[in-house]
Amino acid sequence: MVCVYCSSKTEIINTRHQSRTNSTWRRRKCLRCGALITSIEQADYAKLWVISDNKGKLKPFKRDKLFVSIFNSLRHRNTALSDCEGLTATVISKLSKLLTKGQISKEEIVNTTLTCLKHFDKAAAVQYKAYHTS
Ligand SMILES: [Zn+2]
Repeated sequence: MVCVYCSSKTEIINTRHQSRTNSTWRRRKCLRCGALITSIEQADYAKLWVISDNKGKLKPFKRDKLFVSIFNSLRHRNTALSDCEGLTATVISKLSKLLTKGQISKEEIVNTTLTCLKHFDKAAAVQYKAYHTS
């Protein structure tokens, strides 16, 4: 990774694995201007996971789509953004245990998200359910 300010090489000065989000946090230092930069390495789920809908149609899993659907259910909270970050990580962690050969059904995603929201905020769960179940 190059410096975001001067495009020079950077060196890694600290690395931490974040087990809750299955990601790696890194602090880098620019070798030219000395700027400190934080980077986060995460799996690209869109290239690894496939969602099947109830008609058997397949499409790539998009973490951002899950994030937005959870965020929309949490809009009434002052801490919606940070709550959504944590909940999205929790849902992805639970989904990873349900995968079969990299594939997961839309129904499993909706049910897992709903279960997590019910434990966290009942109003958010009601909101999510209204838009994601028939
Ligand atoms: Zn720099």
